[in-house]
Amino acid sequence: MSKKFVEKITSMDEDFAQWYTDVVTKAELVDYSSVRGSMIIRPYGYALWENIKNELDQKIKKTGHENVYMPLFIPESLLQKEKDHIEGFAPEVAWVTHGGDEKLQERLVVRPTSEVLFGEHYKNIIHSYRDLPKLYNQWANVVRWEKTTRPFLRTLEFLWQEGHTCHETDEDAQDETVKMLNVYAEICENYLAIPVIKGQKTEKEKFAGAKHTYTIESLMHDGKALQSATSHHLGDGFAKAFGIQFLDREGKQQYVQQTSWGFTTRIIGAMIMVHGDDRGLVVPPKIAPTQVMIVPIAQHKEGVLDFTYALKERLSQSLRVGIDASDKKPGWKFNEYEMKGIPLRLEAGPRDIEQQQVVLVRRDTGEKLVTPIEGLEVKIHEVLADIQQNLLEKARTHRETKTSTATTFEDFKVQIVEKAGFIKAMWCGNQACEDKIKEETSATSRCMPFEQEQVAQTCVCCGKEAEHLVYWAKAY
Ligand SMILES: [Zn+2]
Repeated sequence: MSKKFVEKITSMDEDFAQWYTDVVTKAELVDYSSVRGSMIIRPYGYALWENIKNELDQKIKKTGHENVYMPLFIPESLLQKEKDHIEGFAPEVAWVTHGGDEKLQERLVVRPTSEVLFGEHYKNIIHSYRDLPKLYNQWANVVRWEKTTRPFLRTLEFLWQEGHTCHETDEDAQDETVKMLNVYAEICENYLAIPVIKGQKTEKEKFAGAKHTYTIESLMHDGKALQSATSHHLGDGFAKAFGIQFLDREGKQQYVQQTSWGFTTRIIGAMIMVHGDDRGLVVPPKIAPTQVMIVPIAQHKEGVLDFTYALKERLSQSLRVGIDASDKKPGWKFNEYEMKGIPLRLEAGPRDIEQQQVVLVRRDTGEKLVTPIEGLEVKIHEVLADIQQNLLEKARTHRETKTSTATTFEDFKVQIVEKAGFIKAMWCGNQACEDKIKEETSATSRCMPFEQEQVAQTCVCCGKEAEHLVYWAKAY
């Protein structure tokens, strides 16, 4: 029975896309809905999001931001105000044309992002340097009419937070943009155990309407990159379009300098594709809705259920603990919770009770640890911390082995096929080269990393003088 169960998940090496679909559905993270490209986030998937959200929300508040809520609809005229912005988003917005059976005077857009709504509001509430900085964030859903979709990675509607801030000076806005990128990187590395490369997007890849965009990029198990979060320095482009002005300290009218930054449910897709294996999900302990799952062994025997329930109550004081005392066979339960990626399984049967011990089984390594009841909490916390660290290191090692350096276009073309991962290569700064690389290899520029190196003197594509080191990869 247990073998059959595992066979239901396609092997990663055989078909990674199918593996991903199997995992998100069979681990009960999502279900498909009747609207193409929309997903139902099931309790287990939503619990993951809630944990990530709580962690990030605390950090957003600790860095001085306040939560607000903006409307779902944007009038067409408002979206038109910033030219680059509307050009960037027009192909993927959903329009509302009717209210009931009445045709609307002006069409409404279902928000794809809320820069313009914040812009309109900020114009009304900011008048003086004393009103600055304005540090707002909202947790919301947004809609982008994507052509190809995949649960968590690309869906018509997704959940996110979007921060929108206004500052007196360009320097303040710059500091904010970097600060929030660092918050995102910290969440990824310390909580999701996903190592990231921090850097700046090229002009071609930056956010529509931004002065520049910073990004954190991570590498999935199959060697494709995933943009994990972005932070934009908007400059005064939106401020000018919306007339957001303030009296500065010298009594002069100035435009505010703005930022925006977002982190989405997409990160759950990254967590799945960075840590998962052929048995299913592997969830880092800090994020896991259930950190320890207790499986009673021979639970019909006297004392087993009392013992395991008492253990659950005891451990629940400092851990997130579940127990499965259903009449399903232990083998079924083992497979089920392995597939759900629960970091630690705790088994206890009559013999263990006699010996005053339990068996702990690690999801990441499969290692079994016979552990005395006395001081069990301490041991479990140690093991969970070790799992967390192990997942990060494993992901980092994987990324390093899949990162190569190319100095010629020929090398680049070979490596993108053979190594399938990040390629570090120099670039002249000309978009024509970026376009050519994409056209001939399907790799896109992921970012110009903050930690620049000079791996060659010349552009990998045209051979002219190089300006930046760029991380390139095929991406989700
Ligand atoms: Zn070039």
